[in-house]
Amino acid sequence: MGNCIFCKIAAKEIPSTIVYEDEHVVAFRDLNPQAPEHILIIPRKHIARIETLTESDTELMGRLVFAAKRIADDLKLKNGYRLIFNNGADSGQEVEHIHLHLMGGRKFSWPAG
Ligand code: 5GP
Ligand code: ZN
Repeated sequence: MGNCIFCKIAAKEIPSTIVYEDEHVVAFRDLNPQAPEHILIIPRKHIARIETLTESDTELMGRLVFAAKRIADDLKLKNGYRLIFNNGADSGQEVEHIHLHLMGGRKFSWPAG
């Protein structure tokens, strides 16, 4: 999508610290980390929000989670980690390209704020 910052990161038109990539998925470090390890995992395909998913995207969404598992292994997050999709205005979603936050290296409270 023309103006999407995460599409530009996936295309390497905007620099980022990429920690994992394959044909379908790109993962990079969050610019404003909220934990010692804070990675954003995105599909290369532009999908704005959960509401715009179609059933044909289900495998792709599973790939985001599987990438999280691989990255967590690489980062040795043995004590656990948090995976978050912010979705829509009330959640605080700022970037309209689906992204899975992988956060680790500290304890998190529940319920999330
Ligand atoms: P959201 O609030 O939409 O769930 O999360 C968007 C995340 O993207 C935020 O944590 C923010 O710090 C991160 N972010 C926004 N712009 C950029 C950028 O240009 N590069 C990187 N690496 N992260 C970004
Ligand atoms: Zn996009």
